[in-house]
Amino acid sequence: MSEARVLHAEVGIVGAGPGGLAAAVELVRQGLSVLVLDEGQQPGGQIFRQLPPGAAALPGQEPPSHQAGHGLLAAATEHAVPVHHGATVWNVAPGRLWFEQHGQSWLLCCRHLVLATGAFDRCVPFPGWTLPGVTTAGALQVMVRGYGVVPGRRALVVGSGPLLLPTVATLHQAGVEVVAALEASSRWRALRALPAVLTNAARRREALWYARSLLRAGVRLRWGWTVFACEGDGRVQRAVIGKVDAEGNPRRGSERRLEVDVVGAGFGLVPSIELGQLLGCRTRYDAPRGGHCLEVDGQQGTSVAGVYAVGEACGVGGAEVAMAEGRLAAAAIVAAVRQTPIDAALRTRVAAERRAADAMLRAFAPLPGLHRLATDDTLVCRCEDVPLARARAAAALHGDSLRAIKVGCRAGMGPCQGRICGSSLQALATGRCDVVPDLPVAQVPGKPVRSATIVDAPEPPATA
Ligand SMILES: Cc1cc2nc3c(=O)[nH]c(=O)nc-3n(C[C@H](O)[C@H](O)[C@H](O)COP(=O)(O)OP(=O)(O)OC[C@H]3O[C@@H](n4cnc5c(N)ncnc54)[C@H](O)[C@@H]3O)c2cc1C
Repeated sequence: MSEARVLHAEVGIVGAGPGGLAAAVELVRQGLSVLVLDEGQQPGGQIFRQLPPGAAALPGQEPPSHQAGHGLLAAATEHAVPVHHGATVWNVAPGRLWFEQHGQSWLLCCRHLVLATGAFDRCVPFPGWTLPGVTTAGALQVMVRGYGVVPGRRALVVGSGPLLLPTVATLHQAGVEVVAALEASSRWRALRALPAVLTNAARRREALWYARSLLRAGVRLRWGWTVFACEGDGRVQRAVIGKVDAEGNPRRGSERRLEVDVVGAGFGLVPSIELGQLLGCRTRYDAPRGGHCLEVDGQQGTSVAGVYAVGEACGVGGAEVAMAEGRLAAAAIVAAVRQTPIDAALRTRVAAERRAADAMLRAFAPLPGLHRLATDDTLVCRCEDVPLARARAAAALHGDSLRAIKVGCRAGMGPCQGRICGSSLQALATGRCDVVPDLPVAQVPGKPVRSATIVDAPEPPATA
């Protein structure tokens, strides 16, 4: 029975976003057998997200990056890249990927692995952030562009970093009135990103497109402002907004109230590295790139032989970076299999795209003072209902490490396994906002799956 649920390919790729798909297209073009696994229902990942078949397209033009995405998706179709959708990878070992698909437990055996697992939203807790109607900026993108859901009528978009502008544009296209867009970083800090944007053609086109779309929507981005709290009876009805200083500390006394029914809060992204951790891949901490990232060499190889990582999993950088790294990883695998050299231009491209992305991300690096928005009764772990006061008590009693805090109050032990609270928990519980947070421990299952999937996990064949 279990033999029937074991698949084989030369290369197994986790993630059908820009990074994973770009790698897959190149590998298939070179004649290698590939299987891409993605828990989503369509290819494209986060940025090239597609509406379900039959859903009405959003009115208006797409940003230039999405047009590039159509090219990648067309190439994947043209080369018949095999993608298994609804396939959640929950465990991994060198040459092995265990996944759940349609309620069944599967194993993919392969010689090379590419981790293109992307990132997830960075959450900064503030009073009222768990009210219905308050969500992350990324989740709003998913609702509108992935499911055609119009999330409300009057929206506030807050946070920091390049994802705010796409969120404003998407909401406007969906017919939602964006009453304010607040960027916590100062205008002067953001200006540091300008040379990197102006000297990179793709980023320049993208920035101009969003500047025009903001103008069309009649939305002015306010710099050095954020949300202090959300209020409402059973769902968000008002947002309290205010100014922050250069470190993100709230300037009390600057508060204003806005009537809204949707709040999208996007404070950057955190690389999704759990599968790499389960494999024992080395990681490194890079605050502007989102925190703990998978470490890679000049060919996207991780510290574990035969395992490559591309895109946001090696540090947030955007779609252009992810595609360039995907192509380089594919070339490195082909070179390893066929003993051929790697085209140097691929490495040069990755370096140039990373340089531009890093310069931009440095301008929007997480602001430590934003952790002072939460009050004693603000939930810091929404899976386990842990308020800030309890997390602080746990840190005082058990110690400052992430593990001590988790053990002391159960924060990070719920279904999300710390994906929502993990990046800010230590800073909130210890009050030390500018220390490097501990590397979270990755556990099997790496993603929530049914217990039957784990019990039924196919054994690797003796010869594989
Ligand atoms: C929620 C969200 C929305 C975003 N929206 C935008 C946007 O509108 N515009 C923009 O410029 N940037 C957006 N981004 C940023 C975006 O992540 C990158 O620019 C780009 O998509 C990165 O490409 P990638 O290939 O590295 O990862 P992604 O595009 O994130 O692709 C990773 C893929 O891996 C899959 N995956 C991860 N773990 C597993 C697993 N264990 N099993 C199976 N599949 C798995 C995911 O389903 C996903 O499809 C968004 C990010 C997030 C988190």
